[in-house]
Amino acid sequence: MSERARVGNVEIMAFVDIGPNSRQTSQVFPDVPTEKWNEYKHTLNEDGDLPFQMGFFALRVDGKTIIVDTGLGKGPHEAMGGISGQALNNLEKSGIAATDVDSVLITHLHGDHVGWNITRDGDEIRPTFPNAKYFVPKGDWEHFNQADVLPNSPHMPASVLPLQDLGVLEIVDDNFSLTPEITTLGTPGHTPGHQSTLITSGGEKALIAGDAFHTVAQLQETDWNVGFDVDKPLAAKTRGALMDRLESEGFTVAAGHMVLGSNIGKVIRLDGKRSWQVL
Ligand SMILES: [Zn+2]
Repeated sequence: MSERARVGNVEIMAFVDIGPNSRQTSQVFPDVPTEKWNEYKHTLNEDGDLPFQMGFFALRVDGKTIIVDTGLGKGPHEAMGGISGQALNNLEKSGIAATDVDSVLITHLHGDHVGWNITRDGDEIRPTFPNAKYFVPKGDWEHFNQADVLPNSPHMPASVLPLQDLGVLEIVDDNFSLTPEITTLGTPGHTPGHQSTLITSGGEKALIAGDAFHTVAQLQETDWNVGFDVDKPLAAKTRGALMDRLESEGFTVAAGHMVLGSNIGKVIRLDGKRSWQVL
């Protein structure tokens, strides 16, 4: 059980903004019949519910600090029992001040991945990480700005659109290299422009998976979609190809909605099925 991993020169640190919490499997996976979870009971809590959190990651390489996603944000969040996100406090406890962050990589434009992008003090809006550029996937920028999508996406005006006026927004394609070791990998389906973060360093590989998967059962059941997957067939296709690659190439994998301490691991094969080996 670790909240950190090292891949070549890159240190990966796991953080939580809100959680751990749990939800009924049918709430998160509306198309998966409850009995199908029988094989994956070991991934559920004692009530048969799915544990989850709102998490994010920090990468440290060559003296630079990169945040991957920014959690649900300050709150209070009614849907989470009226609590507020703890991302900044948790970063600080690990010795990372907001001013230390050089880059913010956003895997996709859902509200629980962009929540701490900006800070409001009355009418004043400022970037929460004042020395950072914020990198946002092009496909998601285009999708969530569409006339029929934007009105249903309150997190866009709240946490994403102001980045442009603040002059800190960079819209990036797939295969964009932030550093020689850190690149965006297109993993579409959960959202149209969803990008995982590919780390290649010292002959080792890691992936910050964003929401390409949410729980261990999906390592094997790659066609299980969460309700929030925007394009379900594409999400399943992407997940299937991704799991093949993560397993065959021995990736270190980080998954922000899995619970802290168990959300950095490897995709291994056990008794003929894909399984999760916590690092
Ligand atoms: Zn999402």
